[in-house]
Amino acid sequence: MVLAESIVAAGKLDYIQGRRPAVPCILCAIVGRDRRVRRLLVHEGSAFLVCLNLYPYNPGHLMAFPRRHLEDLRELRAGEVLALDRTVRLCLDVLDRVYRPAGYNIGWNLGRPAGASIAHMHQHVIPRYDHELGVMDLIGGKRVIVEDPGRSQRRIARAFRALAGQVPRAAARTRRAT
Ligand SMILES: [Zn+2]
Repeated sequence: MVLAESIVAAGKLDYIQGRRPAVPCILCAIVGRDRRVRRLLVHEGSAFLVCLNLYPYNPGHLMAFPRRHLEDLRELRAGEVLALDRTVRLCLDVLDRVYRPAGYNIGWNLGRPAGASIAHMHQHVIPRYDHELGVMDLIGGKRVIVEDPGRSQRRIARAFRALAGQVPRAAARTRRAT
């Protein structure tokens, strides 16, 4: 790898490996518009927000989380459950538009042994790609696969603005078919 490529990769590795901001709760900091985490926010609804993952498994890895600091799914109010569902569908529409992934992993990590490093509950939406390379490929210097985080944020936030408030894509397709 030539030097210039190494520098670019190192900058992206900083992002992947996580210069974790020194805030008590990173998701509450995003809700509060803390300057240290502002670049991660891509969508803000009334009850749920969406941010880029600081440690992306893949390009486009998003996290949907409640505005309130909750640590257990069972604390969600009925209106928040609906908002969560709408938000996750919107994430899928946005990622379909921006990255056209081949599939998704969607889910919760509850508790540290399950992989949750942030107590504030958050649902992962991870796009999956055919022939994808993982973080180990990047660290091994095989290939840089991670998009510049600033560019990711701009592209994804733009798609959220375009699609928020629209009928989710699959529902629209069903409606046309009937
Ligand atoms: Zn929090």
